[in-house]
Amino acid sequence: MMIGFIGLGIMGKPMAKNLLKAGYSLVVNDLNKDAVAEVVACGAIAAPSAKKVAEMSDVVITMLPNSPHVKQVVLGEGGVIEGMKKGTILIDMSSISPIVSQEVATELSKKGIVMFDAPVSGGEPKAIDGTLAIMVGGPEASFAKVEDMLKVMGGSVTLVGEIGSGNITKLANQIMVAANIAGMSEALVLATKAKVDPEKVFKAIRGGLAGSTVLDAKAPLILAGNFKPGFRIDLHIKDLQNALDTAESLASPAPISNAVIGMMKSLSAEGKGSDDHGGLIQWYEQESKVKVRS
Ligand code: NAD
Repeated sequence: MMIGFIGLGIMGKPMAKNLLKAGYSLVVNDLNKDAVAEVVACGAIAAPSAKKVAEMSDVVITMLPNSPHVKQVVLGEGGVIEGMKKGTILIDMSSISPIVSQEVATELSKKGIVMFDAPVSGGEPKAIDGTLAIMVGGPEASFAKVEDMLKVMGGSVTLVGEIGSGNITKLANQIMVAANIAGMSEALVLATKAKVDPEKVFKAIRGGLAGSTVLDAKAPLILAGNFKPGFRIDLHIKDLQNALDTAESLASPAPISNAVIGMMKSLSAEGKGSDDHGGLIQWYEQESKVKVRS
């Protein structure tokens, strides 16, 4: 089986490498030629366009920044849709608007192509380890055809529902991660203002109810002043915007997402959009005029 892989960024590159390691054949494409060369050095073939990737593939995986990129690469001129054959499968693993996932799937279905939306959680370390949490939307009848290859990239692979459900689940994930980072930042700044060592606060509470994967992953980085991405603030703004748009279309309340996106946008406007989203603490530090790290 030949897998096409388009989008070899922070996430896509290690995911593609894991598929190669597991014995799959890959044909790849990205605007970044260095990323393509690196994956080709691991055994993949390079193709000059999305259409060419699709012509050579039984399954095409896309791992792109946002909805417009996926629409362009899949439905645009020279896109995947021009090369894919009837009966082949597109798995879009990007985090995009669930509404766009459904629109793209509808266009593909006119050519007899099946689509899954399968966004991921876990960041670069879990992409490298092949232990991502993968949340999948799409037809149950075709899921068995893609489950094994998704398990190469994921520690958990869950079919949640029909097309779009994967990205609804990812938005739920991103709302909770944003709220966690904001809560943690608020708490660590409060402790620092009160002249209580934030590192000791972290150690004291991580085993209790406030303990979380977010706290364990982000607090040590924040305390070290390390905001290297990871997951960039600008990408989290994108996810929260998709969450707010989707919430509005469903008349579902989203006051926490609204508050956090405001803080993230103000950091982005100061040129910090490429910091890790743990860098949200800088908003609190600026407001409170303390730094939680030495
Ligand atoms: P990235 O910006 O590092 O990678 C995106 C890649 O897509 C780049 O290499 C870029 O050159 C390529 N690309 C863009 N347009 C293209 C086109 N027209 N044709 C070919 N290639 C094109 O982003 P990332 O961090 O790998 O994230 C990818 C997706 O995964 C995003 O939707 C993101 O929200 C999601 N995600 C990221 C993380 C993370 O920690 N980085 C975690 C979970 C989910």
